[in-house]
Amino acid sequence: MPRPETEPQGFLRIESGPVRCAFTTRALGDMRYARQRQEALALLRAPEPDARLLRQVHGKGISVLRRGDDSGVLAQGDGWLTDQPGAVVGVVVADCVPVWMWDRSGKAAGVIHAGWRGLEAGILGAAAAGFSRSFSIRACDLRAAVGPRAGACCYRVGPDVAGRFRRESLRLSGGETFLDLGAEARAQLLEAGLEPGAVAVAPDCTVCRAALFYSWRREGGRGPRCGQMLACLWLGA
Ligand SMILES: [Zn+2]
Repeated sequence: MPRPETEPQGFLRIESGPVRCAFTTRALGDMRYARQRQEALALLRAPEPDARLLRQVHGKGISVLRRGDDSGVLAQGDGWLTDQPGAVVGVVVADCVPVWMWDRSGKAAGVIHAGWRGLEAGILGAAAAGFSRSFSIRACDLRAAVGPRAGACCYRVGPDVAGRFRRESLRLSGGETFLDLGAEARAQLLEAGLEPGAVAVAPDCTVCRAALFYSWRREGGRGPRCGQMLACLWLGA
């Protein structure tokens, strides 16, 4: 499993068989805007001009786009699964965790937006269950990559949030508590049945690395510097 690293030209990319995963950095602009997304996807030579997005609600709803069947596509939700070749699906994030999942044969793939609320709700387990239900893919055949997110170095939480997570995902420093979203995501993927060697975690913190990433928390949740990154994927030929 290669660890996802950020490329100098502004994308973080993972390719595995026909699965194409990408994550934008702030060099590519604010992905809330269709024009910026379209420019980024053109640079990636994506098979569709824009990504299919959801109204994200920090829940555990997973939209399923089957080959030739959009009856499982949701208006709101926080993740996608698809086996439709050439369909570009995505979520936008700024500090929350982007997670890409795919089966090792490249038959289906998914991309998930998981903040602390989504992790607490169990969205990664819901995604693994969705692979099983919709595509008969077992969790032990899944691969996952956990992308850049607010790191344990910066993601200070109060006791109300800390109390919802296992002790192993918390870091104590200077009398304060920090939540390691990447460690929690990895732990939940393993609980869902993925093999330890099948889960890669990117090293980057979106709050610290201001030149590379937008960060909701760093910018106080507003202002022109507070944009979003796009985490997307598609299945190639
Ligand atoms: Zn940090």
